[in-house]
Amino acid sequence: MVKVEVTQLSKSYGAREVLSEISFHVERGEWFCILGPNGSGKSTLLHTISGVERPTAGEVHLDDRPVQRIQRKALAKSLAVLHQDALPPLGFTVREVIEMGRYPFQNWLGREPGEDDEQMVERILDWLKLRPMEGRTVDALSGGERQRVALGKAMAQEPKLLLLDEPTTFLDIGYQVDMMDRIRKWQQECGLTVISVLHDLNLAAQYCDRLMLLQSGSIVGIGKPEDVMEAGLLERVYGTRPYVMAHPDNGAPQILLGRGDV
Ligand code: ADP
Ligand code: MG
Repeated sequence: MVKVEVTQLSKSYGAREVLSEISFHVERGEWFCILGPNGSGKSTLLHTISGVERPTAGEVHLDDRPVQRIQRKALAKSLAVLHQDALPPLGFTVREVIEMGRYPFQNWLGREPGEDDEQMVERILDWLKLRPMEGRTVDALSGGERQRVALGKAMAQEPKLLLLDEPTTFLDIGYQVDMMDRIRKWQQECGLTVISVLHDLNLAAQYCDRLMLLQSGSIVGIGKPEDVMEAGLLERVYGTRPYVMAHPDNGAPQILLGRGDV
């Protein structure tokens, strides 16, 4: 399990500051969500947490170790990243893509997958209901099915920290809920730490333990969904005032959009 600590993190591209002095922490086993308008720095923040981007100032610690000092291979064993547009490589079958998730566990000679690896691939194929299409290449799948394969590849990595960048954006509502349910089950059963960027405030408020709202690279709200899903704050950030009401099933704050006046 991984605890994430972000301290006074800033990131600039040239003279342009994209993130300014961001500090927050994510507990082990927590599902933490980053929200904010387009261009507010969400993906950049995720990239600095995963060690792909170097911060201009400040630090990211995973379990008290600076992420920049963790070796790539060790990082690949504890962290999986699921991008919205990073679809599994085309030309490979569903089974092959899931097996790729085990690569960080092979030695430098590229040993053959062991029994454990094979059993895990079988379990994932079943759990994600990918068995009927295991021999098909991912090119021949729908967007939703492909996302499920990408999730399967991430699961095969057995990460302790899962980073998700808008995993549901291109999915219809059925697939969206299916994806979120599977991630929650995985999070709860394995004590996985999840940091996700989501566009959909309503999904975020229903599934995530805490939300953080970014605007132009600064934190403007952080806390439990009911603290962040507040009409005045959302209006200041998004420029439109939503209605906020409790979900009839679980009480999570949910928004309804009013009409603009253009
Ligand atoms: P979000 O994910 O919230 O939409 P991003 O983190 O992708 O926002 O981008 C934040 C800002 O940083 C944007 O204005 C974007 O153009 C800029 N940006 C992102 N990556 C780079 C890069 N590699 N070089 C220069 N500017 C970048
Ligand atoms: Mg983004």
